[in-house]
Parts: sequence; C-alpha cells; structure tokens
Amino acid sequence: MKDFFHPRLSMNQKKETLKERNTLSNRVIKVPAQMMKKMKDYYKDDIQEKTPPGGLFLARLEGCTITAYRSGKVMFQGRNCNTELLKWEKDAEVMTNKKRTAGNHLPPQISQLSIIGSDEVGTGDYFGPITVVASYVKKEQIPTLTTLGVKDSKHLSDTQIIQLAKTLITTLPYSLLTLPNKKYNELQNKGMTQGKMKALLHNQALNHLLAKISPEKPEAILVDQFVAADTYFKYLQGQKKICKENVYFSTNGESVHLAVAASSIIARYAFLKAMDQLGREAGIKLPKGAGHRVDKAAAILIAQKGEAALTHFTKLHFANTEKAKKIAFRSL
Ligand code: MN
Repeated sequence: MKDFFHPRLSMNQKKETLKERNTLSNRVIKVPAQMMKKMKDYYKDDIQEKTPPGGLFLARLEGCTITAYRSGKVMFQGRNCNTELLKWEKDAEVMTNKKRTAGNHLPPQISQLSIIGSDEVGTGDYFGPITVVASYVKKEQIPTLTTLGVKDSKHLSDTQIIQLAKTLITTLPYSLLTLPNKKYNELQNKGMTQGKMKALLHNQALNHLLAKISPEKPEAILVDQFVAADTYFKYLQGQKKICKENVYFSTNGESVHLAVAASSIIARYAFLKAMDQLGREAGIKLPKGAGHRVDKAAAILIAQKGEAALTHFTKLHFANTEKAKKIAFRSL
C-alpha cells in the first residue's frame, strides 16, 4: 500500500522527501468569532479530543493539521495546508509569519490573477522521463478553462488528459522540458538529488516562457511546491538566470490556480507520449508508478536486452532495479 503513495526510493531520497515535507508550509490566519464557529462546524468530524493550551479545537485532516486558538488565530500545518487555507483566507486576516520565506505567502485572490504556473510529472515513476511544464493563463481565460474541465491531472483519466492537452497546447503559451532517463541517471550518478533536478527544470521552463510572452508579464508565477522556497533557491545557486521575481510556491498548486492545473495536464500528456514511445522501443507496455508490475516489466527488459538497457528506460536508483534483477536472475 505504501508504494502507491511513495515509490520505493533510495535512502537519500527518502531523507530528502522527509526533509521537504517537514519544511513545508505553516500558515496562520485570524478570523472573526462568527467564522470560527463556522470552521469548527466544518471540521467537526476531524476534531481531536485533546485541545492544546489556549486552543479552541484541533482538527487533523489528510496532510493538514488545523489548530484554532481563543485569540482568533487559526494555524494550518502540513503539505495540504494551502488547500484548506484557501477555503477561509478570503474572509480572514492573513498573518505574516516572519520565519517563513516571502515565497510562501500567496497574493490575495491569486486564483483570479493572470499567472504562469508550473508543474512536473514522472518523478515517482520508475519508467519514463520527468516532464516539467510552465504555462500562462490570463485571467480572461479562466472561465473557458473551467468550462473545458481543466483541473488537477490526478483527477483525470488518460483519455481526458490527452483530449484536454491537445486543446491547451494550441490555446496557451507554454514551455515543456523533458529530462530523458539517460540524462537523469547521469545527473543522479553525479550526486544530484531529484529535488535539485526539478528545481533546475522549473527554473528553465519559467525563463523560457517569460521570454516567449515578453514584453507581457504575468501578475505572478506559481510553482507547484515540492520543497521549501529557500531550498528551491538554494538548488538554483550558480545558475545564470534565476527566475525569482514574483515567484510563489504552493503545495496542491493545481487547486490554487488553473495555470498549474493546465501545466500538470500538458506535462502528463508529454509523459504519456514518452511512455508510449519507450514502450515501443522496449517491445512491451511499460507500467507507470513504482510497484510490483514495474519490477516484473523491468525484469523482462533485463532478460531481453540486458541490464545496461535499463539506463535508457528507467530511473536506475529506484529500489525497483534490485527487485527486477532478482526476478530476472531467478527465472534464468
Ligand atoms: Mn506537482
């Protein structure tokens, strides 16, 4: 079951992922008494028995802990905190958290602004590349995209994604970057973390797109958050061009602005096409994710093409490689 959410990663990757999770957002708003009542009622099923000192209630949701205090302050913690916060922040006073980097504080009404959003696909899949897309959605286009059914690609079928992506790539200015497995493995071998690869790709996609739409400028840039903002910029140190101005980060960015959702759809589409192509080269259908079916497919590849062929098809450092080798050599 665990594999479904978290592909089997190497120790270093696990540490990295944990670190990312722990440093992610922690947001505070101040709400009027009436609204506090509404919130308590809204979260009634998730409210815990114990309340912290000075607290009114503590609710635990998937990926978000909400602590409400008698002072009217409500704290949202965890990787999904922005999704919950969005339900309330419109009518609340957003408290600035000094420890937090500027990047984490979203502009008010961000979902209605003209935004460049970026997202990536393929990071948890053993087979296939990482694809990163940045796309530009102007505020006038938001109703049309909503009508089209643009939303988080995780909630769409492959067929829907292909159909939507075909429309989006003719409607929106976008930049697509694909990191092929061979290149991924080279970088990984040199000690680069997946987090850094993603940061480099997002940065490059954003720079490309900004150049494409110039002299027009978006009202803000939203990156679907995968590390804390300061870590993201640390990864970019030494890059010639760092896109930093007006850049914001949010987990679940797809639900914050349609530009991130559109990017996730285009990135997914590019990933699906790459998987088809790799599958043709492999002569077998390559499964997504990093579960047992993936191990078996990789074992077939080893048997037919030799272990070295994996460099071209897979993210070699995933634990799937060892499992596949065991299967392949057992059946010999
Ligand atoms: Mn994402």
